[in-house]
Amino acid sequence: MLLRPSLYAGIQKELVTFKVAIDEELSLSRDELKELLAYPDENLVDIIREVGFQCDLCARCCTREFNDHVFLLEEDVESIRQIDPEMIEPAPYYELCDQHGNFYVSGYALKTKEDGSCIFLENKRCTIYDKRSFICRLYPYMLHLEADEEGNVEWRQISGLNLHGSYHADIDDEQCTKIAADIKNYERLFLEQKIAFFEKTKQYFRDKKLRHVQGVYDREMRNYKKGGEITVFVYSRGNFREHRLK
Ligand code: SF4
Repeated sequence: MLLRPSLYAGIQKELVTFKVAIDEELSLSRDELKELLAYPDENLVDIIREVGFQCDLCARCCTREFNDHVFLLEEDVESIRQIDPEMIEPAPYYELCDQHGNFYVSGYALKTKEDGSCIFLENKRCTIYDKRSFICRLYPYMLHLEADEEGNVEWRQISGLNLHGSYHADIDDEQCTKIAADIKNYERLFLEQKIAFFEKTKQYFRDKKLRHVQGVYDREMRNYKKGGEITVFVYSRGNFREHRLK
């Protein structure tokens, strides 16, 4: 299921070739946060009412094929760890790689099974339903800010329009208002986590005399895809946790 919009599906399926400037990422994320907080709640409520999404329990949201990965906010990580600490892994599409080949990423994701379904999905049902992560509770109502062909930035649905569920159902005002508040809250927490990650890496890179090197990133990622090992530092509660992955 669920990825967080800007990290989601299809963005960086193979090698990541973008150039990373930490200051630029920080500035973009801070601007995005400002835009989010300034966005009128009533407009978002109207969009949710108009989309009128209704879940039909198909469980496609909970598969990698449909949604790539489930990104976890820091609070989610704590609660999933209490259920089973082995069920999380560094989120894919690491943001940075230093000159020594170490990757850095802003958080964790849920593991998936070999068939691509979420590790907690059984017979099309979530086995941790009452304790599922924030994005799992919100999705597929999740909207995110995105520009159209003409550059108009607006909230759009991320969950695969017309690929699952049904649309134009009547959702009452109270529910629309709650969904809108949850979306903004999720987005805010996500962006704050991203900003905190980039602030931490900026300071960490400066102190340790590190720099992001795209060529090293690509080389290490190629090696990893061929079965090699990599080291990934995952941002967690103001620090990095080191993981060796194969
Ligand atoms: S935790 Fe539950 S709701 Fe979330 S992706 Fe997994 S099975 Fe689906």
